Amino acid sequence: MGPRGRNPGRDIPTENTVLDSGTDTVDRWRRAARSLAYAKWRERLLEELCRISATRQRTLEALVLVLEAWSDRRYGELSFRLTQVLSGHGCFGRYLWRVCGREPHPGCHQCGHPDDDAQHALEACPRWEHPRRNLVAVLGQDLSLRAVVARMVEDRSSWEAMAGFCDLVMVFREAEECEREWDPSSAPQRRRRDGRRVREAAAQPS
Ligand SMILES: [Zn+2]
Repeated sequence: MGPRGRNPGRDIPTENTVLDSGTDTVDRWRRAARSLAYAKWRERLLEELCRISATRQRTLEALVLVLEAWSDRRYGELSFRLTQVLSGHGCFGRYLWRVCGREPHPGCHQCGHPDDDAQHALEACPRWEHPRRNLVAVLGQDLSLRAVVARMVEDRSSWEAMAGFCDLVMVFREAEECEREWDPSSAPQRRRRDGRRVREAAAQPS
């Protein structure tokens, strides 16, 4: 090995080093442009917060903080039942009562709580205490949607724990809702869909 010192040839830019430098610059520009686009998107979503329903606010507040991580994740299918719990649109007393008109009240059929929504099912309803223990073991004690979504985009096991909890809870809820729809003693609103189907079928030309 020669004496230590400056290698005169080392600092002369070669074709490769020029190309590498150009690629680095383009990557930096691309990252900066992407960050700017996400920042603008986040800003627009935050402006919408005061104009949307409380149900949508809950979802948006959780997602707006993790937009990039949510988009960049390499795992995590957004299943139907997971989407119901994240969005609050699904088999929940308040949604069925206010949006669908299929319940005479917004209460919880599982525990009697007067206001049943996705967050109630996720963190409070005693009916789901056992599966919730498994969820807390992976995600931690904070089951606010904001904390849950932040954990879901951090690692695959958190995503899968949440998706598994939603699957289990919503399967039971859907099955029980179906039973109520077929129960002759149910409130009329719960059986309305069947009545509509009957009317629509009768209106079809034979
Ligand atoms: Zn409940």
